[in-house]
Order: sequence, then C-alpha cells, then structure tokens
Amino acid sequence: MKYTFKGGIHPNDGKKSTENKPIVQLNAPEEMVFPMVQHIGAPCTPCVAVGDDVAVGQKIGDSDAFVSAPVHSSVSGKVKAIEPRRHPNGNMVQCVIIENDGLNTVHPDIHPYTDADGLSVSDMIKLVREAGIVGMGGAAFPTHIKLSPPEDKKIDLCIVNGAECEPYLTSDHRVMIETPEYVCKGITLIMKILGVNKAYIGIEENKPEAISAMKACAKAYDGVEVKVLKTKYPQGSEKHLIKALTGREVPSGKLPADVGVVVNNIDTCTAVYNAIAFRRPLISRIVTVSGSGIKEPTNFRVPVGTPFQYVIDSAGGFNDGVEKVIMGGPMMGVAQFDMSVPVVKGTSGILAFTSKEITPKKNAPCISCGKCVSNCPMNLMPLYINAYAQMGDVDKCLEYNIMDCISCGICTYTCQSEQLPSQNIKRIKDEIVKRSRKQVK
Ligand code: SF4
Ligand code: SF4
Repeated sequence: MKYTFKGGIHPNDGKKSTENKPIVQLNAPEEMVFPMVQHIGAPCTPCVAVGDDVAVGQKIGDSDAFVSAPVHSSVSGKVKAIEPRRHPNGNMVQCVIIENDGLNTVHPDIHPYTDADGLSVSDMIKLVREAGIVGMGGAAFPTHIKLSPPEDKKIDLCIVNGAECEPYLTSDHRVMIETPEYVCKGITLIMKILGVNKAYIGIEENKPEAISAMKACAKAYDGVEVKVLKTKYPQGSEKHLIKALTGREVPSGKLPADVGVVVNNIDTCTAVYNAIAFRRPLISRIVTVSGSGIKEPTNFRVPVGTPFQYVIDSAGGFNDGVEKVIMGGPMMGVAQFDMSVPVVKGTSGILAFTSKEITPKKNAPCISCGKCVSNCPMNLMPLYINAYAQMGDVDKCLEYNIMDCISCGICTYTCQSEQLPSQNIKRIKDEIVKRSRKQVK
C-alpha cells in the first residue's frame, strides 16, 4: 500500500543527475562566514571577539531566547571580523568571519559520550540544544523545542520525513542510502526523548534504493517502520505527511503535536545522534548542487559557513546562460543574487537554471481559470488571496486564511496566466508575522 493525500501535483522531479552520486566531502575555504541567524527564532549574539582563536565545533554565537539555537564554527582559525554580511534570505545580518587555518583543530568538548545510555531526557534535550540542531529540511526550526512538546500534548508517534518531494534535491535520498544506521540511531533517541514506541519513516516511491536501505536497517530497531508514500508534491509538507500516514488532520493554526505527532527530517535524526553520542554540533550538512546551470551536479557535505561561489566552483562552476540561482528546491526555495552568501543550516540545495528550465512570468492579468484553487493542497482560494495581496489588503487576506498557506508554490507553478500568487502571498504573510512580532515586543 502507498500512502498519500488528496490533491497535489507531479512536477518533473529533475533528480536523475544527482540521485546516484555519492556524497562528496568538501573542504572549507580560507574565509568562512557564520550568520548569527540560521534558524526560525531569535538571532544569536556573537560570543567570540575579533582576534580570538577558535576550534572546530566551538560555540561562536548564542541567545537566551527560548526559540533559538547556538551557532558553532566549522573550522579552526582566527576571528577576522564581526560585521553585517548578506544572508541567503536576502538581508544583511550580523556574521562572524573566521580565517580558516586549515588545521582542523577540534574543540575538546567534542568526544564520544561515555555513558549515552544513562542520560536523562532533559540531559539529551540539553545536548540537542547545545549542538545548535535545527530542522534540516529547510524550515530550520530549533529541534530541542520540537522535542519538548507542552505537557498537555500527548505524543504517541514520531514521523521521520524522508519524502524529499522537492524536485532536484537528493541529499536526504543519499543519506538514507549511505548512512541508514545513523538515521535509525537518531530516531531511537528521539523516540526515547518523546517517550513513544512507534516511528514511521515516510519515503516516496521514486527512491527504491533508499526504501530498501532503510527497511533493511530498521529491522534491527524496535518500533521503527518504513512507509512508502506516493510520489507527489508537496508530500513532504508536515501536515500532508501526517494526513497520509495516519489520517489525522492538523487543524488550522495548530501544530503536529496537537494531533500527537512530532515530525523530523531524515538528516536531523543523524544530527541528533551525533549530538547525543559524540557531543558533535551541527557544523556541516549535505547540499545538492544541481540544475541545468551547473557543470557537474553533485551532492556535497559542506561545512556551514562556506560561500555559495566556492560550492558552485567545486561542482565545476556555472554553465553559460545561467538565469536563476535558488537556495533549496525550485518550488519553495529562495532566489539568490549574491554568490558570496554562505551555506547555512537550512541550505538543502543550490540550484542554477538556464533559460531551458526557466519561464519568466510577465505578470499578465489573472484570467480566473481556477487552476490555482483546484490544485491548492491547503484548499485555499489563491486567486483571491493573490488579488488582495497585490492590493496590500491584509484584512481581506486574513479573511481568506492566508496564514494557512504553506508557501508550496503550486499556485504559481500551475498558473494559467502570468501571475505569481505564491510570491505575492508570501510577501504579505511575512509582513503579518513581522507586525505580530512587533506587537509582542
Ligand atoms: S502557495 Fe499557498 S496558496 Fe499557493 S497553492 Fe500553496 S498553499 Fe495554496
Ligand atoms: S491559476 Fe492564475 S490565472 Fe488562474 S485563477 Fe489562479 S491566479 Fe488566476
């Protein structure tokens, strides 16, 4: 049986060029850039000063805020500057710049934990927090908060998201094939933290090798089961994954914990294992570098802080005629215009496209065809929200439940005219979030 949800679309998955390519370790370049914003939540404040020597895995930024995660250096060397630099989200943010000495001197705090089995739940959550782990599917929500649901929310199931439904991205795919045991070890620790005895690993059927590897490995782990999902976008959205695997519906404005579920990404599980068993912080991640604009599409393990240009050059550089570069997948990713930005914890991919794969939209009028409505996986009315978003009418957007939009990009992808509904909707959603933060302050 293949699990799925109603609706969704089937874009060309574009995964052929990297799905069979083993992960290549990338060495860090001379200058590394560590933004103090690498997660959803409060930014960190640097805890090092210019001129300080730092080691691999040393904490260089932290915050007292509840929703935040510390930042660590992925190299050893000297702090060269602390200054605003461009972030892949387009903003200038405070960054710690480290001159890499190439020695890879590891911080003494990083070593195998001698008594990992004897750790209490609160010890383990503390280790996850101190390791700066965030959701690695792209959302970058601090993991220690996900693993500490409020006491009145009874969690009975842990779901591991191996759908990787975004076209082109194959980083989770490779992790499942190459290191399934680390994923399973991380799942077992997450189950222990949450006090649950059941975990489902959801994988789309277009990844047969990953399904076999995870199934073979999961046999040795009590309560861990692989579930095969239909290949469909956005199968990896938390709400759709939960619905497909359990039939439970997360109500509007609520979280997975409200229906007894906690969802984590595949490589987040590996990061949890590394944090608890080795006290190793999150300082590198797998990045798929692909698209028609890349000479040698590759999956790299990239030290966090490495500039995009260095990663792109390591994949042979750009082909002629690149028109668009995206961080993340083509449906939900963020367009990039400055290749000096660094890889952050949420960088699942760097994609470059030539005109072969890009159809520029001219913002021609909406023809009210209703395609975006029939395809919206959240059952919203994108054509109306889009129209009100373009007028800047926030109240009307709220009336049409704009905050339920998961920014999946389907309305733009399927638009029969030349509209950009998902981009217009996201702009207003971001504005609403900013306003509510200001009100809280
Ligand atoms: S981006 Fe939002 S409005 Fe558009 S299809 Fe996706 S969920 Fe619906
Ligand atoms: S798909 Fe495009 S043209 Fe059709 S109703 Fe939606 S916004 Fe309008």
